Amino acid sequence: MRISRYLIHERIGSEIVLLSTLWGSVVKIDARLESALRELLMDVESEDRVNVKDSIKRDILQIMQENKMVVDDLEEEYKIAYTAYLDFINRWLVFKIFTTTDCNFSCIYCYQNRNKKYMSQHVVTKIIQLIKKEAEKANELEGVYLTFFGGEPLLNKPVIRVILENIRTLKNVKIRVLIVTNGSLLDSTFVKYVSDNCDKLAIQLTIDGGKRRHNRYRPFSNGAPSYEIIMKNLESLDKLSLRNVYLIYRVNVDRTFSNNDILNLYKPLNLSCKISCVGIFDNPENPSNYNLNNERTACKCLQAAKDAGYEIIDFLINPLFSCSVGLKNTYTISPDGFLTICTGVDPKDENFYGYMSDDGSIVITNKNIHSKLFSEEYEFFNIQECRRCSLLPICFGGCAYSRKIRRNIPSCPAFKRYLRENIKLLI
Ligand code: SF4
Ligand code: SF4
Repeated sequence: MRISRYLIHERIGSEIVLLSTLWGSVVKIDARLESALRELLMDVESEDRVNVKDSIKRDILQIMQENKMVVDDLEEEYKIAYTAYLDFINRWLVFKIFTTTDCNFSCIYCYQNRNKKYMSQHVVTKIIQLIKKEAEKANELEGVYLTFFGGEPLLNKPVIRVILENIRTLKNVKIRVLIVTNGSLLDSTFVKYVSDNCDKLAIQLTIDGGKRRHNRYRPFSNGAPSYEIIMKNLESLDKLSLRNVYLIYRVNVDRTFSNNDILNLYKPLNLSCKISCVGIFDNPENPSNYNLNNERTACKCLQAAKDAGYEIIDFLINPLFSCSVGLKNTYTISPDGFLTICTGVDPKDENFYGYMSDDGSIVITNKNIHSKLFSEEYEFFNIQECRRCSLLPICFGGCAYSRKIRRNIPSCPAFKRYLRENIKLLI
């Protein structure tokens, strides 16, 4: 019997909180039992078998067993995490589609180029061919994830409509859609159409806090405020009561953020809604811009949201961070139909590695990027730090761009530095 490798724990006030990153189970133990708990955990660190003679230790162990925090064999446990990863690759296809690089906003922190490219009908036809072809090839396909990204993806709604119209006929295949939007063009008729043509629709809408802060950070391109238009769109969406639609408020924070900024966000009555907070300037192409303190502020923002009664997305149980870039089931497609590294970096020539031909097959043009991106050498299972890491089931090696293209090993996400703050959010 061994203590799970995927266990993290922190003392929070008068309790010690234990979390299984593999199963998401949480246990709280009276902090007065801290030394017994630490001894139990030490047994593992020293590679000894767990000593269960002591009655306090035995009680703790029992609770941990009930919550799958104790395992018979660490390699077997690793296989469970690895199988979840394989299942994802084999059972799901992922298409991340830039409908356009144009945007009707001028956010002060945006690092994207504004080359205003729009996806054409010709490229859409190729994407549909690619999806159908890959779906036919897959043996045990459960579903297709479609992420629509930009610029502002809703500036080119026909792309989304036509793709859904053509793939909803795939038999026994779930269709899940994520639209990453600034919210200014979210109209009810369109959302109803998407919701009717997929199994689940997530709308990730960026709102940078209260009205004043949001309007300063995220104005329209002509400088006009955007907050009230977004809120009106949300209110009319909420009235539709669509059961398969959920909303994610994405709040970008930096040191200017104050807790009051989160308190007056529109709380939908009929849509399920969660808040995610992240630090500004998370640009993987230019990591020197990245300020880790913003990540600490993001934890404070989530705490304020939680205290105000919003549901939150905590990295430790809803790992938004996990990305499927560089996996063989994932395609990221630029507006002009090129295969590009990921949605986190600009869809520009130096990030392209191939294109789709008319029949939907893939032609590789940049072998260097392609081999780096899809090589198993930099997958988590070949990185010792990751194989031994307690965060593996929620991280799977972190940012693939940083790990595979920049060769930063290990490429740990910022939330690793703020585990205590993140664990606190769970209780
Ligand atoms: S590879 Fe990194 S930058 Fe690209 S989408 Fe994944 S996490 Fe984001
Ligand atoms: S990237 Fe870092 S946090 Fe993620 S699994 Fe690897 S070692 Fe752990």
